[in-house]
Amino acid sequence: MEPSPATQVTCCIAGCGPAGAVLGLLLARSGVDVLVLEKHGDFLRDFRGDTLHPSTLRLFDELGLAERLLAVPHQEAPVLPVSTDAGDLILADFRRLPGRFRFLAFMPQWDFLDFVVGQARRLPGFELRMRAEALGVLEEGGRVVGLTWHDPDGQPHQVRARLTVAADGRDSRLRRAAGLRPTVFGAPIDVLWFRLPRRPTDELATFGRLAAGHLLVLIDRGHYWQVAYVIPKGSADELRGHGLDRLRASVAELVPFLADRVDALESWDDVRTLRVQVDRLRRWFRPGLLCIGDAAHAMSPIGGVGINLAVHDAVATANLLARPLRDGTLSSWHLARVQLRRLLPTVVTQGVQRTIQRRFVFPLLAGRLSTTGPPAALRLLGRSPSLQGLTARAIGIGILPEHVRSPSSPALAGPVRPPGRA
Ligand SMILES: Cc1cc2nc3c(=O)[nH]c(=O)nc-3n(C[C@H](O)[C@H](O)[C@H](O)COP(=O)(O)OP(=O)(O)OC[C@H]3O[C@@H](n4cnc5c(N)ncnc54)[C@H](O)[C@@H]3O)c2cc1C
Repeated sequence: MEPSPATQVTCCIAGCGPAGAVLGLLLARSGVDVLVLEKHGDFLRDFRGDTLHPSTLRLFDELGLAERLLAVPHQEAPVLPVSTDAGDLILADFRRLPGRFRFLAFMPQWDFLDFVVGQARRLPGFELRMRAEALGVLEEGGRVVGLTWHDPDGQPHQVRARLTVAADGRDSRLRRAAGLRPTVFGAPIDVLWFRLPRRPTDELATFGRLAAGHLLVLIDRGHYWQVAYVIPKGSADELRGHGLDRLRASVAELVPFLADRVDALESWDDVRTLRVQVDRLRRWFRPGLLCIGDAAHAMSPIGGVGINLAVHDAVATANLLARPLRDGTLSSWHLARVQLRRLLPTVVTQGVQRTIQRRFVFPLLAGRLSTTGPPAALRLLGRSPSLQGLTARAIGIGILPEHVRSPSSPALAGPVRPPGRA
């Protein structure tokens, strides 16, 4: 089929996950016309990251949107408790953080994305096309000048843009089409995700469960528990071979109050295997093209920081690029500044995640780490409220958190509060 005549926009973003949606909102708010393409028909995909950290809530506060965002149903976790065979301890205490947001908010990602897109759609420069799959890049003289996409009928289209953004996740097609290849660091774990009913009488909120050979995280989703059952990399098929009863029995043994409802897992169709992947691009850009979020750096689920890094990438991108995009002065130097700004938080966070995976999670799963006497570092953490405050800061705020500095077009959204007033 012949492509229809090319559309012209200032910025075209492939992928409407947390990175693409927030970047679309911020650029439109700055008066940049932006087209976001999302290959799915809705955001209703289960088992995605669901945590909004204090630094991300603060960004929405700076946009004057925190109250409206927190009016969306969610659960708040002021502490992250962990249960071991030797007793319970607190890994992170968000109540010790400065500012208004002293908790992790657990909000289904589809609700979060609906909210962001709902705000963006109020802005005249924002357009979102669903069921629009980006296929490749348009190039002229070594510069990316837009992308190609197809609609659900397979009709090809072209968009020409001053800037093309790959925010299409960790298997980014656009990144591949642009010839950018990430360095893969590997990960020794995968995660089985499933739901179990949560009863009003269940006293616990979100918590982790450690035992020799096992690591589970149970996320309180109101009427159900979302369970992350961490397994050694590549062992999902072997586990399936043992039968579902073995998984049910393991969950019931590790978390006895779930024993009366593990039968809610009726078949393996109720259990998803999520491949954990940690990688990073050496160069996040080419002339005319920038990768952000998982497309630039796939994160491990440890710490649940992936959404937050993706959102902060989007904020840094808007801070540094909105003006040159609007003025038509965008150059590769501006794109390099985005990478420079976001590299340190990414490298350090991935480094910490990889160390925890290698030194703690994998030995635990291999049964080489006993939790009848938790490792000294955990015992120390459990005894020290100040350390629990530090881990809360590392998880909830992270390194070099962004603030919204991109201009707000006077005709558009309300004023941005200066940083520090949260
Ligand atoms: C097991 C697991 C658990 C996790 N748990 C958490 C957690 O609790 N908290 C947390 O913060 N993070 C978590 N993460 C990580 C988090 O989900 C990601 O880091 C985050 O979603 C990245 O956002 P993104 O916008 O960059 O990419 P994505 O969320 O992957 O969004 C990319 C979007 O692009 C779309 N797309 C893909 N290809 C195309 C195309 N060709 N054309 C158009 N659209 C396209 C996709 O449909 C998707 O909507 C977890 C990850 C894993 C693997």
